[in-house]
Amino acid sequence: MKILVINAGSSSLKYQLLNMDDESVIAKGNCDRIGIGGHIKHTTFEGKTVDVDCDFPTHTEAFEKLVEVLTTGDAAVLKSMDEISAVGHRVVQGAEIFNKTTLVTDEVIQQIDDLSELAPVHNHPHALALRACKKVISESTPQVAVFDTAFHQTMPEKAFMYGLPYECYEKYHVRKYGFHGTSHRFVSQALADAMGKDIKDLKIVSCHLGNGSSITAVEGGKSIDTSMGFTPLDGLLMGTRCGAIDASAVTYVAKKLGYSPDEMSDYMNKKSGLLGVSGVSSDNRDLTAAAHEGNKRAILAGEMLRYEIKKHIGSYAAIMNGLDAVLFTGGIGENSYDLRSDVCRDMDYLGIKLDEKVNDGLCGKLAKISAPDSKVEVWVVPTNEELLIARDTKALVENK
Ligand code: ADP
Repeated sequence: MKILVINAGSSSLKYQLLNMDDESVIAKGNCDRIGIGGHIKHTTFEGKTVDVDCDFPTHTEAFEKLVEVLTTGDAAVLKSMDEISAVGHRVVQGAEIFNKTTLVTDEVIQQIDDLSELAPVHNHPHALALRACKKVISESTPQVAVFDTAFHQTMPEKAFMYGLPYECYEKYHVRKYGFHGTSHRFVSQALADAMGKDIKDLKIVSCHLGNGSSITAVEGGKSIDTSMGFTPLDGLLMGTRCGAIDASAVTYVAKKLGYSPDEMSDYMNKKSGLLGVSGVSSDNRDLTAAAHEGNKRAILAGEMLRYEIKKHIGSYAAIMNGLDAVLFTGGIGENSYDLRSDVCRDMDYLGIKLDEKVNDGLCGKLAKISAPDSKVEVWVVPTNEELLIARDTKALVENK
């Protein structure tokens, strides 16, 4: 069975075509500059590529080009689009309407679009892509939506409510939703498999650390709390996002700088975080290089991130009344062994002890990095959101 996975943004359309018989990637790529030009970069498993400028006024033309490169020319991998059994789409915000992977109908597309108010950058482009995909690929190919928020719908009320007047929740749906759910679900299950344990018996802290970062408490396979909130701005200090700050600082700074709500949102989402504190870069590798050269603000930004991760691990161990494993994933979590070492240092009270020799230099592969006598196991677990979307899509269309 072949499944196409789509991750659509306002100006881009990332895709992977997977063969679900062995879960291998047949081809992948990105149509970008939608609405402002157009470009496709396509690579097959054999290393054949297409890398050309195009004209993509809308997502529809991007899908038309995608069909063309998949089925014709030197880098084609399909005889016809009929070989694709289903299309799985990543959708950021499913709110309280979608607590699981869902078969897409016209009504579902409209509901996803209606949620744009809660996720303006993401949901409307998802709806555009869903409509374009249906039109271009085929009315009869099933489409499936996999939501970033769905995994966190198991959080109890006491964890997801904010201390605002209750009507903010009732009228405006203001609450913690949490994001990166597809990744947290994938890696926590992969960890349980690697440990040879049933996920129902495990208390896990899952640290997804990338440009966007979030940490989730996974108890018995369910998310019971997570660091991102109403939007992906909350929680940890990130590449360019400030993470959790006192809400009064927002109104104070907006007044000082004369910023509108949108300008303030831009300031906190795009100019803050590791970039804002360090003044160097939003990228962890640049920051590490600057810190090695003695840049004080780069050192501070790195220390703040490590401190926040440690605090989340400790607080999630407290709410779960214990901890069996901590996992690191995402670009930083999978590769930054110095950060993993710093985070896990002086955590013996919690039963965490790293095997520094195993951790040192370990990048991007599944491995246990805790010492044999560590009470809590610590693992690096590479994430693969596309694979989970494809697995969910396959399961849903098979049981249709
Ligand atoms: P996104 O959230 O956009 O998916 P990623 O998960 O790809 O981001 O993570 C990007 C981050 O991972 C960047 O800060 C980058 O510096 C960091 N990173 C990637 N590779 C390495 C590496 N080898 N060592 C340290 N950090 C790395």
